[in-house]
Amino acid sequence: MKKIIIIGAGGVGHVVAHKCAQLAEVFPEILLASRTESKCVDIAKHVKQQYGRTIKTAQVDADDVSDLVRLFDNYKPFMVINVALPYQDLTIMDACLEMGVHYLDTANYEPLDTAKFEYKWQWAYQERFKQAGLMALLGSGFDPGATNMFTAFAAKHYFDEIHELDIIDVNGGDHGYPFATNFNPEINIREVTAECRHWENDKFITTPAMSEMQSFTCPDEVGTYNIYRMYHEELESLTKHYPSLKKAQFWMSFGDSYLKHLEILGNVGMTSIEPVKFNGQDIVPIQFLKQLLPDPASLGPSTHGKTCIGCWVRGIKDGKKTTVYIYNVKDHQDCFREVKSQGISYTTGVPTMIGAKMMMTGVWQQPGVWNIEQMDPDPFMADLNEYGLPFQVIENPDFKLV
Ligand code: NDP
Repeated sequence: MKKIIIIGAGGVGHVVAHKCAQLAEVFPEILLASRTESKCVDIAKHVKQQYGRTIKTAQVDADDVSDLVRLFDNYKPFMVINVALPYQDLTIMDACLEMGVHYLDTANYEPLDTAKFEYKWQWAYQERFKQAGLMALLGSGFDPGATNMFTAFAAKHYFDEIHELDIIDVNGGDHGYPFATNFNPEINIREVTAECRHWENDKFITTPAMSEMQSFTCPDEVGTYNIYRMYHEELESLTKHYPSLKKAQFWMSFGDSYLKHLEILGNVGMTSIEPVKFNGQDIVPIQFLKQLLPDPASLGPSTHGKTCIGCWVRGIKDGKKTTVYIYNVKDHQDCFREVKSQGISYTTGVPTMIGAKMMMTGVWQQPGVWNIEQMDPDPFMADLNEYGLPFQVIENPDFKLV
């Protein structure tokens, strides 16, 4: 029986545990481990009530390779799903290599003291995973994750060559708070305040954060939103794996209240990652701010509205210019009804479960370190339809993107 360990009991871990528990034939034994075991126990209780399945729990410090090795040695998992924080990617990969365990994550490594995420650290594990006969699947959330698969699916079925890619992430949800983030606040704010980078003519071009904006009308009556260009990690892997791309950009919607709060918090230094002395103690402002903000895992009941996340791809098919928009729309309250979670954790956790399912069932199983778009998108896309995130394709849409 193949066992699985999920590390991280936050908003995403909650959804992954529930979605894996729904598929007993693929995930017959599950252990949920995190820094605070009581959070794992709460999730396990809810899984038991909802599906009658028992999932085990454990405490682990995922910053400590020896603690992870102890856990893996006791439980003997086939694979680990890492939905802790990007800071733990490398320690978990090290423990996987030591104990012969396959690996999957949703966010690339980021050093705690530098707000810069890059794949180079994880790509450097390629030979070691290959030689150990182990697979590491990187970026199996929604973005990165489903967006990489949308791009791969478009490239495979609708184009001879893809030239331009716009990934557009609209969260049309409202949680009722003046300022809250939908996933880990520290990671979210580090990402949003970083300089923007987009791909153009074979190189990344840097522009100030939030300096480019346009209005985007989503399909299916989700609404019209201001979307801001920012850097996102899948741009790095997709431009590497699709060298025909001449331009690639990532856009995300933000409401005025979110942006106003972020600006003011930034102006007074509350989003800084540099430690400051306070009453004789070192504190990191952004970590203190995280303590004050609502826990993203608690936003489920109050969040209403829909997400609309998709890829706008332009290229050539049979010598003609073609545009394809592939997207998913998800209602926050549907997610809450199903697994008691808001839509951002849900749209991340479902592709995480699907990536793990591909590895558990051997549909995707190849030693080495792979970004998700390097796998065949077809079985993954079929599972998005099956497990709660159906996608739509619009060929040559009549609405425009600037
Ligand atoms: P949360 O902050 O809600 O949860 C993180 C969990 O990891 C918490 O349970 C936390 O423990 C645990 N954790 C943190 N440090 C350690 C450690 N050293 N050892 C063990 N456990 C630890 O975050 P989210 O659930 O919102 O996000 C989880 C991950 O998913 C993040 O990496 C995020 O970047 C990624 N993500 C990816 C997306 C995608 O589409 N690809 C979208 C959204 C998120 P404790 O409870 O003690 O704090």
